[in-house]
Amino acid sequence: MTTRRWGAVAATAALALGLGACGSSDDGGGSGSGGGSNGIKIGIKFDQPGLGLKKGNDYTGMDVDVATYVAKQLGHEAGDIQWVQAPSAQRETLISTGQVDLVVATYSITDSRKEKVSFAGPYFVAGQDLLVRADDSSITGPDTLDGKKLCSVTGSTSAQKVKDKVPGVNLQEFGTYSECVAALVSNGVDALTTDDTILAGYAAQDQYKGKLKVVGQPFSEERYGIGLKKGDTALCQKVTDAIKKMIDDGEWQKIVDANLGPAGYKPPAGNPPTPDACS
Ligand code: GLU
Repeated sequence: MTTRRWGAVAATAALALGLGACGSSDDGGGSGSGGGSNGIKIGIKFDQPGLGLKKGNDYTGMDVDVATYVAKQLGHEAGDIQWVQAPSAQRETLISTGQVDLVVATYSITDSRKEKVSFAGPYFVAGQDLLVRADDSSITGPDTLDGKKLCSVTGSTSAQKVKDKVPGVNLQEFGTYSECVAALVSNGVDALTTDDTILAGYAAQDQYKGKLKVVGQPFSEERYGIGLKKGDTALCQKVTDAIKKMIDDGEWQKIVDANLGPAGYKPPAGNPPTPDACS
């Protein structure tokens, strides 16, 4: 009798604890509405292997790991993060409308974006390059794109830069880079241009191995920042401190090696960067 009674009490207590834990993880968890008491909503890419990739309920990549580290420093456990897809052209809007708290999505710091959002960072420096079919030796850099069909993404620095650099370029703009990769392998376009980090990730995918190659002549400097609401200097300072800590405690190197290493990507000079002051 006594044993059974204690068993019942324990079961009730466990149930209460279980419900409590469930409730709090739902607040900010992947499937919940997000932004609960301790939830945080973070915009990432969903289709960029090695950077931000969603596979089922699994999120991987350098940006996911950087975001998870920074969120932890801000007091949010991994389970409190709601991941939100942040395509290149939507990042400023997602931030300014409060649909996300942070954007960690191969997001270059630029003066024109700073008119709408604030940035902490940079936490990484990449360079714009070209991805072509492995058997194509005619494209060796931006000055060899005459008469070629090129693909990039709306709202990216990559599309803007190539339009500035190669006036009259035959540029197709999609909403995501994975759409460009599909067009490249099916001969719909001749090259894809964006950051070398992103291109290396696609070239290393099992289904594209031996079919695609990165040209390897970077022609820009892309300083990846963490986007946040314009003018939130207090948040910017906290995120900047977290980035500095991540670099100083060795976690930056681990994150870079684990996510970019498998694609054979070597961080260029300028890495790890020194984050800018928040203003
Ligand atoms: N880093 C560049 C940008 O922020 C290109 C990559 C991207 O579109 O995410 O526009």
